Parts: sequence; structure tokens; C-alpha cells
Amino acid sequence: MSQADGFDALLQEDRVFEPPAEFAAQANANDPGIYEEADRDHEGFWAKFASELEWSRPWDTVCEWTPPTVKWFLGGQINASVNCVDRHVRTARRNKAALIWEGEPGDRRTLTYWDLYQDVNRFANALRDLGVEKGDRVAVYLPMTPELPITLLACARIGAVHSVVFAGFSAESLRDRINDMQAKVVVTGDGGYRRGGVIPLKQITDDALDGAPSVESVVVMHREGLDADISMQDGRDHWYHDLMAKAAPRCDPQPMDSEDLLFTLYTSGTTGKPKGIAHATGGYLVGTYATSKWVFDLKEEDVFFCTADIGWVTGHSYLVYGPLANGATCVMYEGAPDTPHRGRFWEMVERYGVTVFYTAPTAIRAFMKWGTDIPAKFDMSTLRLLGTVGEPINPEAWMWYHANIGGARVPIVDTWWQTETGAICVAPLPGLVALKPGSATRPFPGIKPMVVNEQGEEVKVGGGYLVMKRPWPSMLRTIYGDHERYVKTYFGRWGPDVYVTGDGAKIDDDGYLWLLGRVDDVLNVSGHRVGTMEVESALVDHPDVAEAAVVGKPHEIKGQGIAAFVTLKEGVTPHDGTIGVLKQHVVTKIGAIARPDEIVLAADLPKTRSGKIMRRLLRDVAEGKALGDVTTLADPTVVAKLRDQYADKEG
Ligand code: ATP
Ligand code: MG
Repeated sequence: MSQADGFDALLQEDRVFEPPAEFAAQANANDPGIYEEADRDHEGFWAKFASELEWSRPWDTVCEWTPPTVKWFLGGQINASVNCVDRHVRTARRNKAALIWEGEPGDRRTLTYWDLYQDVNRFANALRDLGVEKGDRVAVYLPMTPELPITLLACARIGAVHSVVFAGFSAESLRDRINDMQAKVVVTGDGGYRRGGVIPLKQITDDALDGAPSVESVVVMHREGLDADISMQDGRDHWYHDLMAKAAPRCDPQPMDSEDLLFTLYTSGTTGKPKGIAHATGGYLVGTYATSKWVFDLKEEDVFFCTADIGWVTGHSYLVYGPLANGATCVMYEGAPDTPHRGRFWEMVERYGVTVFYTAPTAIRAFMKWGTDIPAKFDMSTLRLLGTVGEPINPEAWMWYHANIGGARVPIVDTWWQTETGAICVAPLPGLVALKPGSATRPFPGIKPMVVNEQGEEVKVGGGYLVMKRPWPSMLRTIYGDHERYVKTYFGRWGPDVYVTGDGAKIDDDGYLWLLGRVDDVLNVSGHRVGTMEVESALVDHPDVAEAAVVGKPHEIKGQGIAAFVTLKEGVTPHDGTIGVLKQHVVTKIGAIARPDEIVLAADLPKTRSGKIMRRLLRDVAEGKALGDVTTLADPTVVAKLRDQYADKEG
């Protein structure tokens, strides 16, 4: 595909937001010297965070890096559930809310750390009673109810490797993942609520298990209020509440070697077949603990609402392990942001006094589409910090978020990371770093990303490939069952000591990083490098546009042409001139080289189930090719419709 070194088309965005003085004064990380200090001694930097956790045996060696194999805190033993729960119940946090949960229909539950401790212990014993041993894999296919974090922590307690499969996936996707990980047990539910409907999880699990011989037992959680018609298979299937009633109340935690696997998780499949990313216990816990503490600035009194589903890595790291290791209160929500109304998140912010809120650009663009009067109805004055993750955030969406959710007063942390990185790698420390809308700003201390050109040489200012030249504790250890793919995918381009993120980025005069999405999303138009992200941001900048996805298509003269798929804001009716106006808007914002050759006005864009735009499928559409892997699409009809529409329309 096209090369990523040197970007000629850059969207100008000059506003800079300094950390508010009041925020800086109280921030967990407020000494500017920590960047340099961590750079000088990155092992010492991470070891300091590690020493704030509880180890049953101290480590002998901080890091062993024999590229591309990495080990952290060697010789150390640690249990993740002890750090997320036991540690807190011995203190005044015992009766503090760990999870404040709300179901989509409006039911609510609050679990204190003590409640969580008891449930985790019992369920850990229940799993042991089913024969689950250290190292066994447990597939988790649950709705977003408290039993989901309970299951993860129960697995962690006995050393079982959990692997969550997002509850929106089909039987086939679930079966593939179960077989890939050779799961012994599946934990599922009779159903879960989503957009007012019910997902028949048990039925889907039954279908998936037809052809998944490794599974010996299935645990079925009953979703309160649901009357699902399910069948239970004798000897194989067990109700969660029956097992819990029988299980012993206390379970001794399994001491885990730092490098023992904590979990595997499949990537969202934006670029192709999902990969089973494997994470090690000690390093992962240190990485999520440290970043939660410094990037989200978590304090005793914070109420942290991460809207991500635990089916994705964000839910693992910032709804379970990171904040719980910090002893924070987490808000957890089962359903969709527009059910039963479009102010659902803001209503919860008001109801629970949320202080830190973390969501995805795709959600922010939906809120923008729905209008500012919705958040304006709620009192969100408790918020003191906002975050985003998942895709580059368009400057326009950043400004909207800042003004309409943050009341133009709170910092925004744009956090770049991946399933593979385990924890945030690039993000501002909100008490220290001035913000530029659309930039994830600086690497987290101790982490050393670099922008390189085609030859792997560092680009000091400009665009290129984002790589990592130094290991960090929470990085993946392998692709489960396919170490060769791990080596090839992540270390196959510039040598075994250069981790390839697959993303393009540019670095500006101030050393700020601007993430541009995947490298194969960078176009080469008449010899000019144009980031699809830049063109999309220019389109979204137009007041009529809700979302935009830009891809390249072969062009006889230019090499690559630009095709844009655009959805309009609600209430906007397109007219004959709309496409011309939008093309001109891009020219005004970026320049003539970025003028889209084609713009298709679409009702919807194809997205993964985690809400990311699947540009590779749009590329297939634009090039008139057969569609690639569509199994991780949220709604397969969207791309089929677009293809028909595209065939009918040129320009
Ligand atoms: P797959 O690897 O299967 O194609 P995926 O990369 O979408 O799927 P994730 O690990 O969930 O799966 O997503 C990580 C990717 O999301 C990053 O590589 C990057 O492209 C994008 N991303 C995440 N956060 C940001 C951010 N703050 N800014 C820009 N891009 C981001
Ligand atoms: Mg990826």
C-alpha cells in the first residue's frame, strides 16, 4: 500500500489548552521532571509502580528483553484479584462502592469492595469445583452485568486464563474463539439487554458448542427480570446462582508467576482476522494500575465511568483491572447510549456524580449528531476529566466534547493504545501537558514510541510509521497459539527489537504525536501523502456532516483517488449542491490535493462491533472488489447497502 513517510496534507488546528491551574495543583502526576526521570531509568520507573502493588513474592529482575521476547518482574509472584479486591477490604475501602451498575431497563445494583470480594471468592471456588485449574482457559460470553467483572476476577484468583468474547458476536465467532483458545468452561447468561431487545446468549452458546469439543461445563447466569426460554443440558450446564449457593465462601488466591497469562482477548478485527492477544499477569497489572492513576488521575473520591464494553480491551483495563487496582468506584452500564433515550449517559453522570468519563470518538460523533440540547438538560458539574479512545478524534469532535460535556473547563485525555499494548501508551498527563485538539500529545513516561520512515529511520518532525523501541510491562507476550504470527506481525518489519504498531502518526515541532489511523489508510495522491484522517476531519468540520470515512481507490492519473462516505447530521436534507459544497470545504480546509474525487452520502457507515469504521470494507466497495472478512461487523446490511448505492452513483 501507500507509504506513510511525509504528510503533505495537514489539517491546521492551532488551539492549545493549558492544564487548568486548579487541576494541576491536585494532580497525581504534577512534577514535569518525571518524563526525563522515567526516560533515564525506565525500569526503575515501572518498578516504583510495581512496588505499590501487593506481591506474594518480590521480583528478582525487573525486565528481561531478548527481542522479541520480553519478561517483566521475573521471579515475582502476584495475584490480580488480590490487588483489585483483597487489598482494599483490609482498609477503610471495605464498604466503598467498587461497582455502581445500571442495567439497560433501569435496574440498579451497587457492589461494595466487600460485596465484590465475597462474590469473587465464591465464584472462584465454583469454578474450581467444576475442575478449572491454573492455566485452563475460560471463555466468557456475558452481558455487561456485575457477573462479568466477578468472573474475570474469579478466574484471576485461581489462575485460569479468561477470554471474553463480546456478547454481540455470533455463534460462529464464539465457536472460533472457543476452539482457538481450547476453553474448558464457558460462562454465559440466559440473555442480556441491548437496545431494548434481548440477546439470547444461551441459545447462541448452545449453537457455538456444536463443534467445540474442548468445553466440559457451561455456567449460566440468570439476568434479573428476564424470562428467557432456554434449555439446560444435564451434566454440562449449571446455573450460576446454584453454584454460588453451594460454593465455599473463601478461596485462597493462587500465587501467579508474574509472566503467567492473565487473559487472552481477540482484537476487534478492523484490519483482518482477529488475533488472540495474550497478556501476562504482573506487567499487565502494573501498566493498567499506573496509567489509571496518572492519566485518569484517580483519587479516593472519584467516580469513574468508562463506557466501553468489557468485550474489548478498554473494558478490561479501565473498567476492571486498572481502576479496581486503584481502589476506585466504577460506573458500569449494560446497554446502548440511546436507550431508552439519548441522554442516558448524561443522566447517569448526574445520578452518580461521575467525576471522570471515558468514551470513544464514535460515540462523541453520535452525540454531536443528536444535538447539544440533550446533554444541556443534565447537571454534569461533577465532571473534572474526560477521556477518549479507539480512533483518532477529529478536532471538531474534540471541541464539541470539551464545550458540551466538559463545560469548557475540564481537560480531555486522548489516549492511544491497542489490545496489544494492554494499557495506554500515548496520552497527556492532564496536570502537566497542554492539549492540542486531535493530538494524543506525549507518550506516557517510560514509554518510547517513535515515528520512522520506510527505512525504519527516526523522523524527528513529520509523518511516518509509529513503532516502539523499548519494551513496557503491559505489552502482549504472544498471539495465543501462534507465536510465529506474533513475531511476524509485530516485529517483522524493522528487526526483532522494533514493535510495529501498524498505525501511522506524525510528530510536530513540539514533539506532539498525532495518530493518523492505520498505515494502510494513508493515501498517495499524485505523489502526495494524504492521511484519510485529515480528510475525514475536514469533512466532519462542516456543520452538516456527522461522520465521514475516506478511502483510496485506484486512479489512472493520480495513482490514488479519494473516495469519501459521509453521513449527515439529523435534520439536514441533502440538495443538489451538497456534494460540491463538501468537496470545496475540504479544499478550503486542507488544499486542492485533498479534494475527494467522489463523495457518497450514506445513511450509515460499516463499523466493527466496537464502533470503529471499517475502512478496509469501504476500500473493497470503492475498488469494486469482493468484500473481505465481515464477521466482526456490527451490522452487515450497512455495507451491502452501501455497495449497491456506490454502484449506482459516481461522483
Ligand atoms: P485489529 O487489530 O484486529 O485490526 P483493532 O486494531 O481495531 O483491530 P484494537 O486493539 O481494539 O483493535 O484497537 C487499537 C487501534 O485503535 C489502534 O491501533 C489505533 O488504530 C486505534 N486507536 C486507539 N486509540 C486511538 C487514539 N486515541 N487515537 C487514534 N487511534 C486510536
Ligand atoms: Mg490492531
